[in-house]
Amino acid sequence: MPIKNRFAELQGQIAEWRRDIHAHPELRFEEHRTGALVADRLRAFGCDEVVTGVGRTGVVGVIRGRSDTKGRVIAFRADMDALPIVEATGLPHASTERGKMHACGHDGHTAMLLGAAQYLAETRNFDGTVVLLFQPAEEGGGGAKAMLEDGVMDRWRVDEVYGLHNWPGLPAGEFALREGPLMAATDFFEIEVTGRGGHGAMPHQTVDATLAGSAVVMALQQVVARNVDPLQPAVLSVCSLRTDTDAHNVIAGIARIKGTVRYLDPGVQDLIRTRIKEVAEATAQAHGATARLDYMPCVPATINTPDMAAHALAAAQAVSPGVRTDIAPVMGGEDFADMLGQRPGAFVFLGNGASAELHNPAYEFNDDAIPAGCSWFATLAETRMPLTA
Ligand SMILES: [Zn+2]
Ligand SMILES: [Zn+2]
Repeated sequence: MPIKNRFAELQGQIAEWRRDIHAHPELRFEEHRTGALVADRLRAFGCDEVVTGVGRTGVVGVIRGRSDTKGRVIAFRADMDALPIVEATGLPHASTERGKMHACGHDGHTAMLLGAAQYLAETRNFDGTVVLLFQPAEEGGGGAKAMLEDGVMDRWRVDEVYGLHNWPGLPAGEFALREGPLMAATDFFEIEVTGRGGHGAMPHQTVDATLAGSAVVMALQQVVARNVDPLQPAVLSVCSLRTDTDAHNVIAGIARIKGTVRYLDPGVQDLIRTRIKEVAEATAQAHGATARLDYMPCVPATINTPDMAAHALAAAQAVSPGVRTDIAPVMGGEDFADMLGQRPGAFVFLGNGASAELHNPAYEFNDDAIPAGCSWFATLAETRMPLTA
């Protein structure tokens, strides 16, 4: 039976798992129920190994093929965590945990990889080993890094790693990918501007941290505009400015600025970090204040290995009539990048149809994408590790 037909049969069951996970969202490194559900399913499918507690709350499943003449190992990754968002879909399977929501579709990623696992454990039409990485804490928690630090790539001798993310706006079940950079590096920064607080009517006796902080926010916008090569994509966004006062008549002594930096070329990081520090310190000084920068690299750019992007493309074309390779990189970040830092591999987008955007309270994973997503994983296993006999 063709792979896609098998998943058309399994779609209802996989959608049920997905809705169950959706109704019980768990935030980063709290994926206990989700991890237990995944481990139970993997054991029921007859996986050769199921290991829980990898990277704190992650789960690993191992499926050996009919033969293993070359010792090849392909890993597939799905993320399991939800977001701190109040769900507004009103769906029957909406979140039962107020303030937590699967608004990035990780419920769908997890359910699709479970579906692929069921098929692969049933058929085992490959020569080698499939390793399933159910990862915690993709949303800013460093879950990929946690699994890597637990040694998943070496312990199971992984050769290549693949993953996907649903993509609103792309027709359901279609794919989009590109070789090279697909998603941006993500860094966070915080700047503390220190002045001297005082009476709102006597500014001359203070060093106004609100004014100095505001000047720093404005000045930071010159970093990308005037320092970064115009042909290098980069984003610097200040997302929060808070002071130590909430009164109408008190001048603040401290202003705290938080923001994020995105770029595709690793060389841009040093330049931006250095310029943020120089601009913040000098601008604060011009106002009689001081500034201290805390710069936190989070994830590197998601860069698809050219050969593996070609394999991912071939698998997508085998299972979907719509595959785009003309897309531009996205400035959002994805911690699958950490896995690509250790092994060659590829990450692709799977169409979610005309849904609300990712991280929106009205977002919903599209169950119509399930057969294509599952088939893509299964096809990759069978084509990257073909049976020889
Ligand atoms: Zn997300
Ligand atoms: Zn996501």
